[in-house]
Amino acid sequence: MAALPSIRGIREMQAWSDHARREGKRIVLVPTMGFLHEGHLSLVREAGKHGDCRVVSIFANPAQFAPSEDFDSYPRDLERDVRLLTEERVDLLFNPAAEDIYPAGYQTYVDVEEVSRPLCGAHRPGHFRGVATVVLKLFNIVRPHVALFGLKDYQQVRVIRRMTEDLNVDVDIIECPTVREPDGVAMSSRNRYLGPAEREAARCLQSALGKAEALVRGGETAARRIREVVVDEISRQPLARLEYADLCDPRELHPVEEVDGPTLLALCAWVGNARLIDNRILGDDEP
Ligand code: AMP
Repeated sequence: MAALPSIRGIREMQAWSDHARREGKRIVLVPTMGFLHEGHLSLVREAGKHGDCRVVSIFANPAQFAPSEDFDSYPRDLERDVRLLTEERVDLLFNPAAEDIYPAGYQTYVDVEEVSRPLCGAHRPGHFRGVATVVLKLFNIVRPHVALFGLKDYQQVRVIRRMTEDLNVDVDIIECPTVREPDGVAMSSRNRYLGPAEREAARCLQSALGKAEALVRGGETAARRIREVVVDEISRQPLARLEYADLCDPRELHPVEEVDGPTLLALCAWVGNARLIDNRILGDDEP
């Protein structure tokens, strides 16, 4: 199998993209932090439908981790990632160094104000500022026509869409469904932190989302009541600690009191050392 072309330098990446663009190629970017799993690979496969050149970036972005968070222990296995991307026959891996992305003296950040505020934003101050900043930088470096993001990180997609609209960034954003393990647990690099009993406990997020959906299908519309059932379901699991469970409108992420149309239920719970998130659009046809 042909080796996976890869670039680490920023200027080299820009030159590669300029060349591809001059040849009339449509560049599709899948940004990741590495330690790839089937969720990432589903984006990589979908990317093939949206252009000619598939670029996958691997960059664990220090700017989106608070000092107290798991940046240092975030799982990494570049060799395995390269093997997986080689098997997928992606066109290029872009794997920049942190000191090139944030050189000494770096001081410019993108703050997407409103939509960054609730949910994860309320518990991880500065997180979406780091995300929006690195995504805009990746767009300026890789210069893609299209970029793909997973709906497991629902708020992230809303932040990036808002940023591209507000700053007139000429990149089409494609959102892809959450890929789950056979038992329903959303795939995540952080599942690596879970021991066997914790992995079992992690199922409570998906079961809470399922209970909420069943309530809505049964005619319940009071967000407060639905939230109670979710909180109850998570609290039954002694290894899990709920961080938030919120119902909001799926675009602006404003809290809702009544479920009278498609409504986002977003959840975050700690299981052991893993901070897990999941979500579901209630009252929708998602299976
Ligand atoms: P990460 O490496 O966690 O930053 O994720 C890179 C991209 O993969 C983001 O757009 C994520 O939303 C997406 N992603 C992560 N996990 C999943 C999943 N289980 N299903 C679909 N997309 C995912």
